[in-house]
Amino acid sequence: MIHFRESLRKFEDMHREAIGYINLNPIQRGGILTPEARKALIEFADGYSIYDLSPGLEVDEIPLIKEFISEHLPKFLGADLVRITLGAREGIFNIMHSITKPGDTIIVDGNRHYTTITAAERANLRVIEVPNSGAPEYRINVEDYEVLIKEHKPAMIILTYPDGNYGNLPDAKKLGEISKEYGVPYLVNGAYAVGRMPISMKEFGADFIIGSGHKSMASSGTIGVLGMDKKWKKIMLRKSEKYQRKEVEFLGCELRGTAIATLMASFPTVLERVKKWDKEVKKARYFSRELEKLGLRQLGEKPHNHDLLFFEAPIFYEISKRHKKGRFFLYKELKKRGIIGIKPGLTKNFKLSTYQLNKDELKKIIDAFVEIADL
Ligand SMILES: *Cc1c(COP(=O)(O)O)cnc(C)c1O
Repeated sequence: MIHFRESLRKFEDMHREAIGYINLNPIQRGGILTPEARKALIEFADGYSIYDLSPGLEVDEIPLIKEFISEHLPKFLGADLVRITLGAREGIFNIMHSITKPGDTIIVDGNRHYTTITAAERANLRVIEVPNSGAPEYRINVEDYEVLIKEHKPAMIILTYPDGNYGNLPDAKKLGEISKEYGVPYLVNGAYAVGRMPISMKEFGADFIIGSGHKSMASSGTIGVLGMDKKWKKIMLRKSEKYQRKEVEFLGCELRGTAIATLMASFPTVLERVKKWDKEVKKARYFSRELEKLGLRQLGEKPHNHDLLFFEAPIFYEISKRHKKGRFFLYKELKKRGIIGIKPGLTKNFKLSTYQLNKDELKKIIDAFVEIADL
């Protein structure tokens, strides 16, 4: 225990903000808190302190929270009804668990996140994957769902929009038409979209949409949003027999922690930032072009439509073979130049995100890559 207590000193020595590194980690860029959320985080840091907003009320009855969940979030997601979940994966599971039966088959894209699979396993589902097109773009052709739908009669279909590896944005609207034609419930996994870019469940013709607060909505976590079409109300929001106001799928009420305060505090900023999405796409494309000039290759859709970029970097792999730090050289050399977020040990391929980085920061990163490529 003494040793553990000593180890916890690390918490005080992180200086995550003060050091001022530029962070390229895709899973972290969209979750950086707004100043308002950072204040809310401290304000509501004590356990269950969210109840102090309206003493005596259940948390889902608190007027401010109610307004957020029943007005602002549905509008933002293009959904009729919204629930807060513990994260994107829990939301995916909630839907599977409510609308399918054990042993049912579902169809998902081959670029799906691993949590789609773990959620399906937990719900005892059989998963069929629509393969991607392979290197270099790894595209999902949503028309490929059709044959599999006819063959397997799935209980639901899922599209990852975009996927967390290549940042590809498949034709979600087209899949909405296919889902309608065959009457199959359709979930859009927007963990990397909701809070970054404009997205509307209704416009896609989907039944459900999922977002991740800590990934893309400037929130501390863990927290997710689940939007649905009202036709699923009876099934998704079924009530407890014993406690007639409590929704069983959400165990009475999932939101009760700090994360909801940060999600709400950041929301006005998030609303504004999604309007500037075209700028984010332009920056990602510029960055991709500049790195390709060094001999790197961006995989995934090109021109790219998202800030999540996957690169293949044979030149860095070659350097790693003779550098004294070996495969950790790229991480170390970037860190020396004030840049973090590429997985330590990776050189041959890696992911990064340019989300919310300004031109000067991008320039600094590109210059660092130019210098490192010259080692
Ligand atoms: C990050 C991610 C998830 C998991 O998000 P959580 O909110 O942490 O559960 C699910 N799907 C995709 C595509 C992701 O990128």
